[in-house]
Amino acid sequence: MGAAKEEHVCKSQDIPGKKWKFSEILADNKIKERWEKVRKFFFLRESTYDMTNKCNIRCEGCYYYEGEKQFAKENKDIDAWRSLMKAEKKRGITFVVLAGAEPSLVPELCQVCYEEIPLGAVATNGIKFISENTGYKIHISVWGNDKTSHKLRGAKNMLSRQIENYIDDPRAVFVYTFTRNNIDEAREIAEILADKRCRLTFNMFSAPSGYEGELRHNPSSLLHTRETIMDLIAQYPENILYSAYNTAAHTHQTGLHGLYGCSYPRMNPSTDIGLGRSFRQYRTDLTWDRDAACCVPDTDCDDCRHYAAGSAVVTARMFRHAVNPELFKAWLDYVDTYLSVWVTGYEKGKNLCDNLTAPPGFKVF
Ligand code: SF4
Ligand code: SF4
Repeated sequence: MGAAKEEHVCKSQDIPGKKWKFSEILADNKIKERWEKVRKFFFLRESTYDMTNKCNIRCEGCYYYEGEKQFAKENKDIDAWRSLMKAEKKRGITFVVLAGAEPSLVPELCQVCYEEIPLGAVATNGIKFISENTGYKIHISVWGNDKTSHKLRGAKNMLSRQIENYIDDPRAVFVYTFTRNNIDEAREIAEILADKRCRLTFNMFSAPSGYEGELRHNPSSLLHTRETIMDLIAQYPENILYSAYNTAAHTHQTGLHGLYGCSYPRMNPSTDIGLGRSFRQYRTDLTWDRDAACCVPDTDCDDCRHYAAGSAVVTARMFRHAVNPELFKAWLDYVDTYLSVWVTGYEKGKNLCDNLTAPPGFKVF
């Protein structure tokens, strides 16, 4: 951490009870610059869409094959999807997340979405290439090394197939999901991906409702994950899209809902403003259910540390973080990270804060 940043930390800690005005926080040029950079994207309004109920592999702990949504009838009609996207645009949706099961199995539907709403991301296992014509961010899920992937996902040579498909593709972000059992493998994966110039971010396994299997995190696996991520960020700053505050928030013993209060309709009864009003999670039959609507439905909310959840839940809490420079820098790093992972063409800046910062109202663990 540089001297200027240390000054901030001291300043905010040395003046107990000081009430910072927002203008005082923005007096720091680096903070101001980053704030101006991220605030241009506050127009983003997301919804998510299950594109198909088929997948070319079957993973343990997959949240898609939990609950009712997997049984929705598939609508494969391109015109119906185009109409839905037009209606979504009219409703104010500016960002789509295409998920599933596996969206790469229905490329024509992904393309229609892109033609109507050009900002978005596709969550894929990366085995089948998605054409460059679909200019969304491509999030490629990695659950460990090839031995582990074979065991948990039933697919051979997964990482090399994923890299072959997406090497040097500016859309691609590899998303390494930490489970209780694959923490040390992240070092091996990060080295391979960095060597191939690929970009990597992190996700935390968040147990589906009722799941008691061996992937669920516990306090010691959360701590071990935290230390591992902090080392990797320092080791591969060019390749890893993450920050110390992402680490603090997602490896905390308390899940995201407990720390910040989830804004998605499933946990948020308010329809007045924000995600509670605008967010929908469409099933493959193009219906949606307010009671189930969040980016990772059928996940156990108490265990939710999912990266997609954080991209909305943490970023929505700007005012809680705009109370001193230290906390606001941490929040800006989080937003900068989230935009670089989710928005095509957005480049992450250097993190402003290299130390673990406690979420507002909580201790650091
Ligand atoms: S690749 Fe994704 S959708 Fe397919 S089974 Fe695995 S977790 Fe589920
Ligand atoms: S699973 Fe996560 S994102 Fe979904 S409602 Fe629960 S806390 Fe919110």
